[in-house]
Amino acid sequence: MNILLHICCAPCSIYPIESIEAKGHRIAGYYYNPNIHPYSEYLKRKEEADKYSKEVGINLMAGEYDLEKYFQFVNYNEKPENRCPMCWWMRLEESAKFAKENGFEAFTTTLLGSPYQDHDVIKNIAEDVAQKAGIKFYYEDFRPGFKKALGEAKSKAIYCQNYCGCIFSEKERLEKKASAHGKEKKK
Ligand code: SF4
Repeated sequence: MNILLHICCAPCSIYPIESIEAKGHRIAGYYYNPNIHPYSEYLKRKEEADKYSKEVGINLMAGEYDLEKYFQFVNYNEKPENRCPMCWWMRLEESAKFAKENGFEAFTTTLLGSPYQDHDVIKNIAEDVAQKAGIKFYYEDFRPGFKKALGEAKSKAIYCQNYCGCIFSEKERLEKKASAHGKEKKK
């Protein structure tokens, strides 16, 4: 099959590319992640995804940086349990549409490799948006390859971010760090 792979970042793309290609499919990548904040971070992850795609010989296309659309999606839904499904929905809906419009037979996403995100919700959303766009959803659980791929990314000096992407996740990371630091001081 000719599959469009929605890519969230270079490290997360390592195992899905390897695994899909090993099954004899052809892949092109699609970087559509307007959730990433600030813009400099978005560009940094895009540049790394571009570099890695070139290294493994796949074509990487990119969507718009629809920052306003992202905030419209998550407005009044800022808690992680509410905003994350909206964020996945937005990115996957656009990826499914792009795949359909550009003649791919199926689409899938590197989000299926994350051990930190709700795999089943992502899978359900991908099935829904695929049906709506009239395209197949290629399902595979990419989580078993996550750890090894992260090690490979580090050994190749591929940039590995320390927060999921949105400004909320950056705030949550810093709050956790500050609270851990506070506990350390009290010891
Ligand atoms: S934490 Fe990650 S998945 Fe959730 S809204 Fe932010 S960028 Fe999207």
